[in-house]
Amino acid sequence: MSAQLRMPLFAALALLLAAAGGADDASPRCASTRFRIDTSFDSGAFDKCTVRRDGTFEITIRPEDRKVVVEQPWFAFRVSVLRPGELKVQLRIPDGYARYWPKLSSNGTDWTRAADTAVTISAAKKTMDIALTLDDGPVWIAAQELLPGSWYDDWLAELANDDELSVTVIGQSVEGRPISLLKTGNKAETVILLGRQHPAEIPGAMALRDFLATLLADTELARQFRARFNLLIIPLLNPDGVANGHWRHNSGRTDLNRDWGQFTQPETQAVAKLLTSVDALQMRPRLMLDFHATNLTRSLLFYTQTADELTDPAEFDMHWFAAVRERLPGFEFEHRPGPSDENPNTKGYFFRRYGIPAFTYELGDEADRAELHATTPVLAEEMMRALLRAD
Ligand SMILES: [Zn+2]
Repeated sequence: MSAQLRMPLFAALALLLAAAGGADDASPRCASTRFRIDTSFDSGAFDKCTVRRDGTFEITIRPEDRKVVVEQPWFAFRVSVLRPGELKVQLRIPDGYARYWPKLSSNGTDWTRAADTAVTISAAKKTMDIALTLDDGPVWIAAQELLPGSWYDDWLAELANDDELSVTVIGQSVEGRPISLLKTGNKAETVILLGRQHPAEIPGAMALRDFLATLLADTELARQFRARFNLLIIPLLNPDGVANGHWRHNSGRTDLNRDWGQFTQPETQAVAKLLTSVDALQMRPRLMLDFHATNLTRSLLFYTQTADELTDPAEFDMHWFAAVRERLPGFEFEHRPGPSDENPNTKGYFFRRYGIPAFTYELGDEADRAELHATTPVLAEEMMRALLRAD
């Protein structure tokens, strides 16, 4: 199915009206005699675009609201080629710094990292110059690969064919987008996976998909695991942020990963309600993994409980990581224990509520994608082995 067919009706209408010249296109865009730049697609975003006298595009990116405190400068725009030639774009980041290396696509689906020679970051990291010779278009240029709502729709539709899995909607975002839950069975023990609280954290989304595929695989280990544990997975907790190309927040101007406990937002409230029913059905949670990405030199980092914070299963992190290190001797990842008391993030909340091992599973922003796809299944397999050994 084409992306256009899946577009919400209002977006399709807006495009039709814009094409007919009948309405203002709300998305910012600008054009030179050679190129036209726009953000009229899911996850497309910048604040302002102007064209300098020499034809250079000057694009300013800013966070979605004034409350964003973490610098996570998202950008995604599409370049249409009117006349072949050299495209020059200067990205200006007044509220942050050049954090993401640009990714390029000719179809919005398949991506490559921009060549080293195509990108220059200023010493203060406040501007990023991108130069590309374009013969034809369009070309998408984005902070990270785009994994928009339609990517999740396709994935969930595929998973819905699995007899063991059901897909349900447990709530709505601020803007009314569904919060979907994938679940298996009704066993006495449950593993919970959460994804995309932070819209820009694409490698975390990639890892969650690979991780889950390993848990759902037709292997002896995975079958044994699913015979004992339910899976509850919410792959896209912040669909508004993803659709609107936010840096970090939902459409309620809130960092969802600081809303656990207060539950002021419909997205986190949906999970709180789910947990109430998990408790009522006595589906005892045993482990929670919350997938993110961050600015790392290594490709992977885990935030866990401290050694003083006793979990059940006990020392699960140590058992899991030791097994992973044995199987992947050259693969370095970091383990950062941190206290959970008072912390309004997912990790702190699940530990306080259930006393279970609760992890923030952080990929590096620029983690090698091939390595990510190769190592994640091993992490998933050793997680299953470690949890199967728990009483
Ligand atoms: Zn995050």
